[in-house]
Amino acid sequence: MIARDYLLKAMDKDKQVRITIAHTTTLVEEARRRHNTSATASAALGRVLTAALIMGSDLKNEKDALTLRVNGDGIAGPIVASVDSVGHGRAFISNPAADLPSSSPGKLAVGELVGRGGYLEVIKDAGLKQPFVGRVNLVSGEIAEDLSSYFLLSEQIPSLVALGVLVDTDLSIKAAGGLIIQAMPGADDILLGKIENNVLQMGSISAVMVQSQDVESVVATVMSDIAYDVIAERPLAFKCTCSRERLAAILANLTREELAETIEQTGKLEVSCNFCGEVYHFSEQEIIKNKKP
Ligand SMILES: [Zn+2]
Repeated sequence: MIARDYLLKAMDKDKQVRITIAHTTTLVEEARRRHNTSATASAALGRVLTAALIMGSDLKNEKDALTLRVNGDGIAGPIVASVDSVGHGRAFISNPAADLPSSSPGKLAVGELVGRGGYLEVIKDAGLKQPFVGRVNLVSGEIAEDLSSYFLLSEQIPSLVALGVLVDTDLSIKAAGGLIIQAMPGADDILLGKIENNVLQMGSISAVMVQSQDVESVVATVMSDIAYDVIAERPLAFKCTCSRERLAAILANLTREELAETIEQTGKLEVSCNFCGEVYHFSEQEIIKNKKP
């Protein structure tokens, strides 16, 4: 068991290959609890959130943000994760209760739930006028394979991606984690083959996370017989950016008629955040007070 959520980034001594490995069990469990996801939806959501957090570790500036959106044609509906540059992430799945029977023992039907048609989109916002947007068609809906295709087609980086979420019988998350290995231009094929082989030998990433004591030892397994340096370490956490003020500002944009209609229908003003499920209650007076004249 690994005690906390964090990631490590390492490079071989010749700086040809970069690997990032993340342990995310606690934060994926928080996402599951907040969204009350089915077993298969937990796996899909956890994979997307873990991948986004790994990708977010490459953001350059403090205020940069990254959104990973998986828009498959399956019953899960869109899955969206949004992360900042310091290891905080939040995510939602459009149909958290959606589930499908698994097609093979021990493997949740994530690809079927997400769908094999549709697209994966990465939006990097560096505070410029236009954010960077990269989009590829889904390959399998299993997320890791789709991301690998994204890196190759959209960023021209050959990558090996593994993502795993192990769901316990009580639906809680037993383990979650992921790794992304990327070849620098001109990287040695023998070195790449060796690392790929190490990853294959290691087995599923979620099982590795259950068995390991720390992420350091997982990095050591992937890089066995290869000299490397750990170049970064960072804690990871589920954290949303919503607040009472922010949602009050959104409500204040509704017309008086729309406000009256909402209150009439539900008897109250209640807004929940898509990303974290937090529910905020407001009085009509509170919103009207915020309205611009
Ligand atoms: Zn929120």
